[in-house]
Amino acid sequence: MKKSEEQRYDSESGDSTDRLPCEKAGTGHIRLKKSITILLPAGLVPSELFSLVNELAHKYKLGVYLSTAQNIRLLDVQDEDEEDIKAVLIKAGAVLKSPGKFPIPRICVGSSYCKLGLVDTVDLTRKIMDKFNSRTSVKPKFKIAISACPASCSNPMMTDIGIKMTKGGFDVYAGGKGGPKPKVGRRIAKGAELAAVLVVMEKLVDFHALKTDKKQRMVKLLDEPDFPFAEI
Ligand code: SF4
Repeated sequence: MKKSEEQRYDSESGDSTDRLPCEKAGTGHIRLKKSITILLPAGLVPSELFSLVNELAHKYKLGVYLSTAQNIRLLDVQDEDEEDIKAVLIKAGAVLKSPGKFPIPRICVGSSYCKLGLVDTVDLTRKIMDKFNSRTSVKPKFKIAISACPASCSNPMMTDIGIKMTKGGFDVYAGGKGGPKPKVGRRIAKGAELAAVLVVMEKLVDFHALKTDKKQRMVKLLDEPDFPFAEI
């Protein structure tokens, strides 16, 4: 596989773009259909939003796709309908994907719903977003994943910033990735308290912002001489 192809497929999730590929009949070219992504902290869909999505899907003949990033994508959006659909969603309080937003963590279901869970991942997501959500112009394309026990159902060790709860506290990983060449991240904190995890995250995100021109996976930064964390 050529390098450019690796990079193209190294997005880990269809959420890296707001368009889906399909073949343009008779031309041999790829044209992209439009979609709109609704961001869902902790993957939770308020029932009113669920109803509205259903209503919009019927009205505008949209597909509804549940993404690996735990968001909803409305598919097959026609150009002439796009602004109307967005306006209705925004009026209802939905947050739409757009450049510069801090990435919402992908989480496992956590201690409220899984007997192996050691932490409430919904509450943890809220605490992380409370700290970071006001950031604007966040540079792509790092992702965050949280698991409530070492089983790692949300793949934190293969995500740019991965947080895994253990009986001894939080372990934090940096630079993991999926894609055509998956990589386990570097463990940079072990048995940490939540306050320490938030400090680690802040340093990582600031370092990513400092070292990134347009977009970059965290894995590319691990070998920078001034990367702020050693492997532990
Ligand atoms: S990572 Fe652990 S707590 Fe979370 S869903 Fe999987 S088994 Fe349950």
